[in-house]
Amino acid sequence: MNITCNNKGCMKSSAALLDTKTMEIICQECGRSISNISPAMKTALKQAGQIVRTNAKKAFSVLCKTCNGNREVVLDEKGNTMCKICLKPINVSTSFKLAMQESGVQLEKVDTSKDNKTETK
Ligand SMILES: [Zn+2]
Ligand SMILES: [Zn+2]
Repeated sequence: MNITCNNKGCMKSSAALLDTKTMEIICQECGRSISNISPAMKTALKQAGQIVRTNAKKAFSVLCKTCNGNREVVLDEKGNTMCKICLKPINVSTSFKLAMQESGVQLEKVDTSKDNKTETK
């Protein structure tokens, strides 16, 4: 089932997927949500199984005490684990790190040096 994206600069037709958590339709061309979809269309997509498979990619998240929520863990350039949202350090257990390595999850690396340079100007 192809849906035409109504986002500026896209307007392409793709097999857009329904995110069952947010009930948003995600365009497969630009990755943005398409806003003009009727509830009936969403139901049809759900029944057709044209939905975002969230468990396809295993996300490793831990509770961040700084911004108070389950956040994805990322690495800075020194290999320290930190919160993806507030970029404050998060201490994860070695077994947690090991589990991530075993599942082949590559931690996203965040370049914090850029921010430091602008601050020292
Ligand atoms: Zn699009
Ligand atoms: Zn945080």
